[in-house]
Formats: sequence, structure tokens, C-alpha cells
Amino acid sequence: MRVGVFKFSSCDGCQLAFFDVLEELLKSREIQIEFFLEAQSINRFDTFDVSFVEGSVSTEEEEERIRQIRESSRYLVSIGACAVSGGIQSIRNFLDFETLKNEVYNYVDLHNSLPTSRPISDYVKVNYEVRGCPINAFELVEIVTSIILNKSLTVNLNPVCVECKAKGNICILVLGSPCLGPITASGCGALCPSFKRGCYGCFGPLRGSNFEGLKQIFKERGWDFQESILSSFNSYNKNFRDEVWKLGS
Ligand code: SF4
Ligand code: SF4
Ligand code: SF4
Repeated sequence: MRVGVFKFSSCDGCQLAFFDVLEELLKSREIQIEFFLEAQSINRFDTFDVSFVEGSVSTEEEEERIRQIRESSRYLVSIGACAVSGGIQSIRNFLDFETLKNEVYNYVDLHNSLPTSRPISDYVKVNYEVRGCPINAFELVEIVTSIILNKSLTVNLNPVCVECKAKGNICILVLGSPCLGPITASGCGALCPSFKRGCYGCFGPLRGSNFEGLKQIFKERGWDFQESILSSFNSYNKNFRDEVWKLGS
């Protein structure tokens, strides 16, 4: 199986997750890493059975490159909040680009920057999305194994609360602190609530969750829901960017 790992606008943190499981992956003789600039000096861009893409699309060059990768790949998997939702850099999508350019980066050549920083799925078809900032490396092994075995990739339908309750944690909301667990996709093992911290939504919003219900709870308790959501790496996620627009208006 020919694998490519590609970087777009991002911090590289999700690519680093590969190093946690690379040894495991390479035990299988079926896997050849053909393209991975961060990990090897000899790379070949040809066709790929699966391409893992980290980062958001922020420049014209990236827009062209993601289309080339899509055309060359049987499966395309977005990894991490930047690729799935636009990342922290997509917070600028809610602000005026010209103002930002002039006031923040007027000394940098930004001619190739697009006015928005968008998730990969805004440009090309994505077969599977791995949530998190950074991702859980073991999900990578599961995806590669599923493709080798020709098993369908299952989509996560549960909120963090399901993993949290399975661990027997006392609910942070009940204890009196904000938690975005009810509207956030699971997969992290309820990491933050297990250490008595509220979830801040790094795995991104879960489609169909009760956004309005949680908003009401935050309001009743005097917590700033808008700030919690708008300051997230996932604020431009397709599943709730409209909600964020409403919050800002
Ligand atoms: S999702 Fe987070 S860890 Fe991954 S590349 Fe983006 S900022 Fe870095
Ligand atoms: S602590 Fe958060 S994640 Fe856990 S059950 Fe309560 S709301 Fe859900
Ligand atoms: S509990 Fe929430 S913020 Fe913490 S790692 Fe999981 S998804 Fe991310």
C-alpha cells in the first residue's frame, strides 16, 4: 500500500503523531511510505493508495496542490483540527482580511494568501477525518489497517460524554465548571474531564449534538459560550460555522 503524508498550513504536530506509530506501521511489508517530507529525504510523488493531509488551505499554491493530491489518491484522509476544521488560523475567517493584513502582517509578503483559511473538505472530497489537536496516533493505525483489510471506515457518532461516563468520571458541569464534552466528538478517551478539567472542544463539534441545549446551560450559569467556541481550533468546522456566525452577530 502506497502512503503519502502531506503538510499544508499547520504546526506539524499531527505529522509528529506518525513517529509514535511508524515502527508499528512499517512492520507490515504491505506499507510503503512514498512521500513524507518530515520523515525521509527520498520522496516520490506518483499515485497513492492513501494520502494523509495535515493543515488547512491558506494559499493559492495550497489550493492547487490539494487538488493534485486528490487526483493522485484512492483515499484522502484529513488529519487534525487544521485539516478538518481550518485550525486556529481560520479564526481570521470571521474578521476582515484587508484589516488583518494591514494591521498585523503589513511587513510580510502575503500576496498569495487567500482571504480565508479553510478545511480540506471545502476544496476536495475527503474520505475520512481524524479529529484532534493533535490527533490520537492510534487512529492512524486503525485507518491503515482498515484500508489493507478492505473494511469500511467507521464514523465516530459519540460525544466526549460517552467516553467520560464509561470512565466513571464525575461530571465537570455538575461540579460547576464549563465543559464542551456534550457537543464534541469523542476519540481522546475523555482526557480533560479525567483530570477534572472541562473539555474545550479540540476534537471538534459532533454533527447533530444539542448545541442549543448546551448554549442554554452556559447562559444560565453565566459562562461565555461565544468565547469558548470562537476561540477554538474548530470554529470554522462545517458542522457549526453557521452557529459561530450567529454568535458573532
Ligand atoms: S491540528 Fe493542532 S497539532 Fe495538528 S497541525 Fe493543526 S495546530 Fe498542529
Ligand atoms: S464532564 Fe464534560 S464530558 Fe464528562 S460527562 Fe460532564 S459534560 Fe460530558
Ligand atoms: S476532552 Fe476535549 S479538549 Fe480534552 S482532549 Fe478530549 S476533545 Fe480535546
